[in-house]
Amino acid sequence: MRAQFLGTAAAEGYPDAFCGCTNCRRAREVGGPSLRKRSALLIDDDLLIDLGPDVLTAAYLHAAPLDRLRYCLQTHEHADHLHPALFLARSPFCGVHDAPQLQYYATRGALDTALSGLGRHGASFNDTGVSEALNLAVHVIEPCQSFAVGPYRVTSLRAAHDPQAIVALLYLIERDGRSLFYATDTGPLPEATWTALGAWGGSLDVVIMDHTFGLGQPSTGHLNAAQFLAQIARLREGDLLAEDARIYAHHIAHHSNPIHPELVEFAALSGYLVAHDGLSITI
Ligand SMILES: [Zn+2]
Ligand SMILES: [Zn+2]
Ligand SMILES: [Zn+2]
Repeated sequence: MRAQFLGTAAAEGYPDAFCGCTNCRRAREVGGPSLRKRSALLIDDDLLIDLGPDVLTAAYLHAAPLDRLRYCLQTHEHADHLHPALFLARSPFCGVHDAPQLQYYATRGALDTALSGLGRHGASFNDTGVSEALNLAVHVIEPCQSFAVGPYRVTSLRAAHDPQAIVALLYLIERDGRSLFYATDTGPLPEATWTALGAWGGSLDVVIMDHTFGLGQPSTGHLNAAQFLAQIARLREGDLLAEDARIYAHHIAHHSNPIHPELVEFAALSGYLVAHDGLSITI
């Protein structure tokens, strides 16, 4: 598999356009990988994780056109991960007539958010989950399911993220004997997720994990660096990491993480890597 980061920031972007803090000012000065859009990941040109608000910009900035997109896995419905207008942008309504039908996988809650965001266009969803007008087939999923998505094997796992309001998902994605764990937005993983990972019993080649609070305080709905390392240590203890597994910090917030070169130095001391927008990796 090949994976390309289309965005690596937390909800407000990095820099936050409205913010004059030291990190945001320095990011504007140095530019390059210190400029982060809202999080999304593209796999093999046909599988997108999160239909986020910055994927259109990312597609041209990082030479990652989405015209071959066939599958989308939605982690959750927070607005930095789901921008319903994009369903229209790839539909005949906006003059797109040759795109493959999109197989869209999301929780009931995320689908409700997408539908309400589509206004009158939402009415074209019907009982079978297929929308001709939006060139879309909808698949409702829940945590702890394992299913085929085209050539991929996908397992949905529960995140620790805003549990009073929503069901947020993490994804384990396998293809051709290789595996990727996409784990944002989440706090320390729920025990049900550790149980499911243990039952899976494979070894992860790449882990992409929440680093929202970086050098800041611990959280229950995101991770700081110490919590991030604790999750990685538990994956290793559970024999869930390949010997040469690569670990990437992702979903990076301006208030708790320095500019990219400095965050890379900080992470290297503990043996992990830092994602940046446009970064393409082979799994
Ligand atoms: Zn987020
Ligand atoms: Zn800032
Ligand atoms: Zn979120």
